[in-house]
Amino acid sequence: MDVRAFWSPSVRELVPYVPGEQPRSAGLVKLNTNENPYPPSPRVAGAIAAAAQQGLQLYPDPESGALRGCLAAHHGLESGQVFAGNGSDEVLAHAFFAFFRQSQPLLMPDVSYSFYRVYCQLYGIVAQQVPLDATLQLQVADYAGRAAGGVVIANPNAPTGIALPLAAVEQLLRDHPQCVVLVDEAYVDFGGESAIALVPRYPNLLVVQTLSKSRSLAGLRVGFAAGQRHLIEALERVKNSFNSYPLDRLAVAGAVAAYEDTAWFEQTRQAVMQSRAALVRALRGLGFEVLPSAANFVFATHPAHDAAQLAQELRAQNVLVRHFHGPRIAQYLRISVGTPAQCDALVQALQRLVAVPGAQ
Ligand code: PMP
Repeated sequence: MDVRAFWSPSVRELVPYVPGEQPRSAGLVKLNTNENPYPPSPRVAGAIAAAAQQGLQLYPDPESGALRGCLAAHHGLESGQVFAGNGSDEVLAHAFFAFFRQSQPLLMPDVSYSFYRVYCQLYGIVAQQVPLDATLQLQVADYAGRAAGGVVIANPNAPTGIALPLAAVEQLLRDHPQCVVLVDEAYVDFGGESAIALVPRYPNLLVVQTLSKSRSLAGLRVGFAAGQRHLIEALERVKNSFNSYPLDRLAVAGAVAAYEDTAWFEQTRQAVMQSRAALVRALRGLGFEVLPSAANFVFATHPAHDAAQLAQELRAQNVLVRHFHGPRIAQYLRISVGTPAQCDALVQALQRLVAVPGAQ
């Protein structure tokens, strides 16, 4: 019997996203999935424990009103301009369904977050990849004049880490007034410029952020979108046709507590940015070319060593980094910024692998 006999034709054709390895064994230096190396604010566990004591027998607020209010206040928006979901991947998926199933193609960089193409396949959206320039930078002029049913970019981009200045994002919004421009800001708190402040001025702007990175809450699954009310209403329609309660009571309580502890947020993101600077210096010292990163990871290539092989050899030394096979990036490693101790372990492992014998 064909083991796939029960599958619908569309499921047979899916090529799902493959997340980075989440190893079961302890003792690995885990720099492969861009998590924050620091735990969340201690207030998060307290808020979750308190929430667990009351009302778990009841469904949560379907609107996640407490969280939306908190996010709106934090970003200077109204609650109706914020949508919350089960991780930003879910928010992105709803946005793709809500805005991009158009007769014109969705424009996206050829090198970007690979989940975008997966959503396109899932929802039957035609994608058009616009190549980054030779230095893997996004040039907004390359998007101008193209018929578009939508535009999606990550800013800072993944996996390059390169940030696009806000003026360029604004140009993109002005060049494509007839469609939604989605700016995925998963990594923006590590050195990018957020477009959320532009929301009141651009009816076609949707910004998506996550609490998985700069708020250290990858395990809680909370993401959100900011945009004008008509866009948020579309997301609510999709969500309410899929799952009334994407965020449970514990996630809402934990997310609000994380946002309230601004001192913890500042301290941990500054620590990550400092480690990044040291890591970039160390990698360059080992002969790597490292792209300018405004994210909590760096994208690096070594002229004399094959990236896939380096990733494997690092794995053998208990250091996990991410390697992608895609065109243009197959010779790069994406390395999440860890604690200073984790970065040292990576650099020491690389020293053993790339050091030229006899060199100082
Ligand atoms: N966007 C980008 C660019 C990402 O790298 C990630 C993390 N893989 C996400 C969105 C999704 O993050 P989450 O679902 O944890 O919010």
